Amino acid sequence: MKRKISKTYEPQKYENKIYKFWEKSGFFNPDNLKLPKNSKPYTIILPPPNITDKLHLGHSSVLAIEDLLIRFHRMKGYRTLWLPGTDHAAIATQNAVEKKLLKEKDITRHQLGKTEFLKEVWKFLRQTRTIILKQTKRMGASLDWSRIAFTLDDQRKKAVKKMFCDMYKEGIIYQGERIVNWCPRCHSTLADDELEYQKQKTKLYTFKYSPDFPITIATTRPETKLGDTAVAVNPKDKRYKKFIGKSYKVNFLNIPLKIKIITDRQVDMNFGTGALGVTPAHSLTDWKMAEENKLNIVKVINEDGKVKTGFGEFSGNSISQARKRIVSKLKKQKLLKKEEDISHNIALCYRCGTTIETLPSKQWFVAVDKKIKRLSNKSLKEKALELAEKKEIKFIPTRFTKRYLDWINNLHDWCISRQIWFGHKIPVWYKDKKIYVGENPPKGRGWTQDPDTLDTWFSSGMWTFSTLGWPDNFKNKKKFGDLARFHPTQVLETGSDILTLWVSRMIIMTVFALQEIPFENVYLNGLVLDKFGKKMSKSKGNGIDPIDMANFFGADAVRLSLLIGSTPGNDLRVSEENIKSSRNFVTKLWNIYRYGVTTYPHFKLEEKISPKNIKTLSDCWILSRLNSVIDEVTNNLKNYKFSLAGEKLQNFTWNELADWYLEIEKIEKNDYVLGYVLDKILKLWHPFMPFATEHIWQSFYAGKKILMVEKWPQTSNKLIDKKAEKEFQNLRNIIVKIRNLRTSYKIAPQNIIKAFGEKTNNQKIIEKLSRIKINAWPKVRKKGIKISEKNLKLTLDIANFVNIEKERVRLMKEISNWKKIIKKNETLLANKDFLKNAPKDIITQNKKHLKEYKEKLKVQKELLKNLNF
Ligand SMILES: [Zn+2]
Repeated sequence: MKRKISKTYEPQKYENKIYKFWEKSGFFNPDNLKLPKNSKPYTIILPPPNITDKLHLGHSSVLAIEDLLIRFHRMKGYRTLWLPGTDHAAIATQNAVEKKLLKEKDITRHQLGKTEFLKEVWKFLRQTRTIILKQTKRMGASLDWSRIAFTLDDQRKKAVKKMFCDMYKEGIIYQGERIVNWCPRCHSTLADDELEYQKQKTKLYTFKYSPDFPITIATTRPETKLGDTAVAVNPKDKRYKKFIGKSYKVNFLNIPLKIKIITDRQVDMNFGTGALGVTPAHSLTDWKMAEENKLNIVKVINEDGKVKTGFGEFSGNSISQARKRIVSKLKKQKLLKKEEDISHNIALCYRCGTTIETLPSKQWFVAVDKKIKRLSNKSLKEKALELAEKKEIKFIPTRFTKRYLDWINNLHDWCISRQIWFGHKIPVWYKDKKIYVGENPPKGRGWTQDPDTLDTWFSSGMWTFSTLGWPDNFKNKKKFGDLARFHPTQVLETGSDILTLWVSRMIIMTVFALQEIPFENVYLNGLVLDKFGKKMSKSKGNGIDPIDMANFFGADAVRLSLLIGSTPGNDLRVSEENIKSSRNFVTKLWNIYRYGVTTYPHFKLEEKISPKNIKTLSDCWILSRLNSVIDEVTNNLKNYKFSLAGEKLQNFTWNELADWYLEIEKIEKNDYVLGYVLDKILKLWHPFMPFATEHIWQSFYAGKKILMVEKWPQTSNKLIDKKAEKEFQNLRNIIVKIRNLRTSYKIAPQNIIKAFGEKTNNQKIIEKLSRIKINAWPKVRKKGIKISEKNLKLTLDIANFVNIEKERVRLMKEISNWKKIIKKNETLLANKDFLKNAPKDIITQNKKHLKEYKEKLKVQKELLKNLNF
């Protein structure tokens, strides 16, 4: 009995059901996989998405790549764990909720108060978290939901507290007054790589502090000069030699300053006056000079972005007010020598775009240069460099190794305290001048906890091991449970834009806690862009919603579009048309399956094949090709060449299996080989398009076997038959030649061309696929077009379908036209003026065209020659 199968595959009907079926099977959890005890682990910890927004195409791309790796390794027999989670994203979430409140209720967080505001944050998180997890499932991600984690849940809170205390005990975490990047709007410190730079026009002022001061200096920020404690000059600068080492009491617009003249080799003698006013409190370089020269540090700008008290009439002024006032006073007192327009790089807050102030602040820091016992007297920085240099951690593509090393080399102490409300609390308590650091609050009354929270990267830096049960699973330097089974992980796959922000911090934190690497490989992907190469954004309206697309074209189609064409480290362009054509490919696979089950009543998938079932040349050929493709796909997947793997498989499925083998199968009828090939390509395609492949698989096995945990196909060398491949190529060539000829002379498919020639192998295939009928040579040689391929020679009689004389005239006309065009092109390309003056790409284009025209002329000449019988 023939089975009824719908003409097209309707993903909407099946995808959710299939996901539930997988979940119910329990095989997302590695503990349930039926594997030998010594099976190797394969672990990926999902980069936790910020739950400030719904899933976008960039997330889907991460999910598609990781699920591909996970499904591939699960089928290869690894104890495969893919652990999900979400990120509380402290500052990002707080800002999102602040904006929401302002928009919906016209209320600021300060008006609402800390307790109420945090309630709002949690309410927001519960909603967004539910949405994003549902969307993650919708993409087919085979994550072990039984191990889900959140960067701010109880287990992670415990881990963060323990880490902070351990680092404090080891002297790695310290509190100090240091220069930080400060956003006056967010009212918080920011890490160096949380700054964005923008070129802005500003003025460079050249002036003297007072009439009696001997040196003129230049600055773009006169308001900070109220805090100058030195003037630095280059030690080689003869102009200033006599002043070096002297100190001056200066009256700068009625503010008393004490200025020492110091030297610094980094001062550029040719910039401005060659003398630099040193403001230790508001510049990192000046801060370092102050440390070396034991200068006073005078803070001018406070955390609100205003001039502090103690600066006379300027106190309480905003930065721009103070600047205006100082410049006008300098002018009046004839101290201003010059005012020039320059463009200058300004640091902005990456969250809100406010200009960043550099100022000293009492904060918590992680020391990166301090040598520590547990790292055999190396510093965190040294260890982080060593791991990449010794290739214990590999970066894919390798060019990112340099970026990582450069960044680590320039790393200075990491400020981890943030003045925001939402996040991990700092486990530090104060009472009078006493300080207590501990995982639990101190006993006794009167202690108050540090009001700050920790930098969000502090907790996400611990992500690979805090999710696997650290610190509970780590006693006396030994790992237990999940931590022993699954750490270090095999791959971290994430966006190249957070290589420094996140990846490097994970390495530092893991090295400290476990003295091992967090992951063996770091695969960095680029951005997902629109079809014009523009960044997708809500405001531009060029975004593609992956869930809408999945609901319309199927999640498999979305995944396929994100995998084929994607190469590590490079941006990927995706459009709705891409996804649509991926959907068409899924349909192609469906049609191959549909052909099998609608043609043969007992059609089934064959796991093995025996020689007696291999009957014809095309059987040998398709089996040989299949086994080469298994090898290529496996190797490319192993080497992170996902796109290449997909392209090879697509080419095999569409251009070889569907276009050739299936057409020949209709003549030769061998459902056994077809069942075998289909079994293998369902397995090979599964990591790319899990839904359609599992659905087809289940139509044969009805739950008795699950494709997701089937064994990955292995190449059978016995079936590789290069001789058959060559022979089949000849067969294919002759058919293609005849088909091309039919197209050239416009002979309709229903017209069977009479041909003459010797009896040949595969005659039936040639006849059917090229719509000809081969006859034995007649006594009188017939006129016709000669076609040959290796030993096979055929003469095609097309006189019935083509007016030979008319065709000859048409072709002669064409040939003369092409000759004219070619001549014109050749003349142009011989013209020296043209070659000298025309843009390079125009010349290349012309050369390319000339080549194409010559090719066309050759074809037409061949066609005309063929008519000369
Ligand atoms: Zn800000």
